[in-house]
Amino acid sequence: MNCLFCDIIAGRKPARKVFEDDRVFAFEDIRPHAPTHVLIVPRRHIIDLKNAAPEDAEIIGYLHLVAAKVARDRSVEDGYRTVFNVGPKAGQSVFHLHLHLLGGRVFHWPPG
Ligand code: AMP
Ligand code: ZN
Repeated sequence: MNCLFCDIIAGRKPARKVFEDDRVFAFEDIRPHAPTHVLIVPRRHIIDLKNAAPEDAEIIGYLHLVAAKVARDRSVEDGYRTVFNVGPKAGQSVFHLHLHLLGGRVFHWPPG
């Protein structure tokens, strides 16, 4: 299987690591849309949210807790956003589940 994020997690492709543990790997987005733009990725290959199974519930929650920790470490707790893009029409381009953490600027609602 050819997967960019599996390659990054395995060290076969470079990335600017932000955090890792036994369950997740987090790194800087290569095309940041905010001063903080970090991708938090489960080590296990899950395609996206709509393909997630009940046993993935814990890791999906844990991705958000890691995002909260990175936001705290980056001092962007006054306003940040966590996003799953699900499907091409929502902008998903990499088909290995990843949570975007965006912070460090003002965000508008509704998003574009
Ligand atoms: P999405 O469009 O929601 O699937 O998010 C994929 C994200 O991966 C985009 O924000 C890209 O900028 C980012 N990306 C693509 N290739 C790399 C890479 N080699 N290293 C870091 N981020 C990447
Ligand atoms: Zn993968």
